[in-house]
Amino acid sequence: MKVISRKEAIEKNLKYFFTGKPCKRGSIEKRVVRNSDCICVACSQAIKEMKRKSQLKCRPLKGRFIHPNEESRKRALKVSRKKWQDNNKDKVKVYKDRWAKAHPEKHVEGAARRNKRWSDSNRAQNSLYAKKWRQDRKDLVNLYTINRRAKRLSATPSWFSELDSFVLSQCTELCVLRKNATGFAWSIDHMIPLQGDAVCGLHVWNNFQVIPAKMNSSKRNKLIFMEPSEWITSVEKYFQTTHA
Ligand SMILES: [Zn+2]
Repeated sequence: MKVISRKEAIEKNLKYFFTGKPCKRGSIEKRVVRNSDCICVACSQAIKEMKRKSQLKCRPLKGRFIHPNEESRKRALKVSRKKWQDNNKDKVKVYKDRWAKAHPEKHVEGAARRNKRWSDSNRAQNSLYAKKWRQDRKDLVNLYTINRRAKRLSATPSWFSELDSFVLSQCTELCVLRKNATGFAWSIDHMIPLQGDAVCGLHVWNNFQVIPAKMNSSKRNKLIFMEPSEWITSVEKYFQTTHA
């Protein structure tokens, strides 16, 4: 057999090369250009055995083989995907929006599920957030409370109109304005209580008034401050007596 180096064999586009020197198992044979493997019987068997052993290391999963490095490959994939997403936030947003539009129910479901999972695993944090929100948005809490109460007492007429809800939202804003101006809390009151002993008021625009929260909580269902601005005449006396 003629000696031909690997380099020459590559140049001549041959499959094998031949050094004329014995392999580590003592045979003088040609070698494969691609991986320099010796093709003698002993080497072929040894190589076959090595491949079989590396196959055994793989663990079967759902009918296919997973290479031991599969996990790290997946991890690397995740990292590179995250990197791409961070660098292409606009595209990600477009894709997500497109998906959400195509699957509206799934989108809402998924958001609810994620919210629930988060609040389940961050219960303390969540209640802190809720508490802070209630403190920051006392105006809205107040609004929800009075709407809920009216609903429970069926004081909301079927003809509850745009005007009613407009006046109500103006009252909500007025609570905030007056609180900022005076430093104490204001709330929306029904001039004629929804659940008075003698009369029952309605949850409508001309029954709303904004009075100090203290006066409102002491008023409850008493038939006082029932005329527009009537509460103003008692406010001085009220605050003197309550502060004394
Ligand atoms: Zn060999």
